[in-house]
Formats: sequence, C-alpha cells, structure tokens
Amino acid sequence: MPQSRSYDTYIFDLDNTLYASASRLFSQIDANMTSFVQKHFDLPFEGAQALQKKYFEDHGTTLYGLMKKHDVNPHHFLDYIHDHVDYTWLNPHEDLKAALNAIEGTKIVFTNASNHHASRVLDRLGIASCFSGCFDIIEADFAPKPHRETYEKLLATFDVDPKRAVMFDDIPKNLVTASQVGMATVLILHDDEGLPYRYDENAHGPFIDDQTDDLTHWLKQHHQIISQP
Ligand SMILES: [Mg+2]
Repeated sequence: MPQSRSYDTYIFDLDNTLYASASRLFSQIDANMTSFVQKHFDLPFEGAQALQKKYFEDHGTTLYGLMKKHDVNPHHFLDYIHDHVDYTWLNPHEDLKAALNAIEGTKIVFTNASNHHASRVLDRLGIASCFSGCFDIIEADFAPKPHRETYEKLLATFDVDPKRAVMFDDIPKNLVTASQVGMATVLILHDDEGLPYRYDENAHGPFIDDQTDDLTHWLKQHHQIISQP
C-alpha cells in the first residue's frame, strides 16, 4: 500500500470478495448464467458456457454482452440468475464485521450484480450495517466494471476523492481501472480454478498495490496504516 497516503473511503466488490469463493454461492449464479444462455440461444451446455465466458471477457459481464449483441432485457436476466440461489451457504461473519467497523471512513459496495442480490448477501453475512451504500449494476446503467465511466459515476455519486480511496476486488482487470482513476488497490486472491479470470503480472501487476487471500486478516493488519489521519 502506498504508505504516504491516508484514506477515508473503502470500496468493496461483493461476490468472491466479501465472502470466499469457496462458499459456493457465486458458483450457483455462474451456473444460472450458463443456463440462461443455454435457453436463450437453445445451445448445448459447452457452447453456452463458451459464449458466457466470451461476453464476460469482451464486455465485463455476460449481461452487458447479451445486451449489446442481442438486446436481452437486463431485468429478465438478473431475475433469472439471482432468483434460484441458496443464500444459506453464507453465514454471519462476526470477525469481518468487527474488522470493517474498526476502520473509520466511508465503506461502499461496488458490484456488477444487482442491489437486490447484494442486500441478500450482506444480510446473510450480517454486515449490511457496515456500509454507507451500494453502487450496483442498475445504477451503473449496466455498464459494468471495468468500464471507466462507471467508476467516475460512483466517485461522483458518493463524492469520493479517489486519491483517498482503496478498492478491493477479486478480478484483476477491475483494479486496473480503479488504479487508473487514482485509487489504491487490493486484489483478493482465491484458488478457484473454475473462474475465468487470471492474474497476469505484466498486465495487472503495475496497477495492484497489494493482495491477500484473507480480507478480514488484511483489514486487521492494515488498520493502523490505512486509518492514520
Ligand atoms: Mg467479485
């Protein structure tokens, strides 16, 4: 972390950042996305999965690709992928809650999913009260991370000085944009081989200030550094 700075705003991705990918929650959503694509295009599983990943790579989210290329109704898509998710895979995380509450400053959730999904996740984790707000994909007019205009809209909405903000995300390319708009960045690592994004030292390294496989531990360890006035 750049130690000469002090911070007053903390911006957190939701899925696979505020809870571990090992919880198997996001894998349900991922499977629902494949199922949506399968039904929409009448494709076999492998073909649907390949198209889903291609749109994720090319457009930031599968949804944005479906909207741009096929005029898919985003609300139908979001309802479909989030309505049949078992949130009981997540449990209250008292330790994370304490670590978040120990940090002074504004805490915001910044997600490519919907507010509706975010509320259910935060409620299950017992950390909803830790955040001042959630900037979701609907508020972003469906232009997902890593689109720069969405970061700029978030900064304006919450009146954030990016030089005093830290962003946490498990997708490296989302932190490239965060760094480009001036934020400090922390990559959340996980070992889920099923996920389509990889850390590439050359492409991402210069934009990532720190990384951790344990957000709670990181927040506790860095409490003094990031909270100094
Ligand atoms: Mg994520």
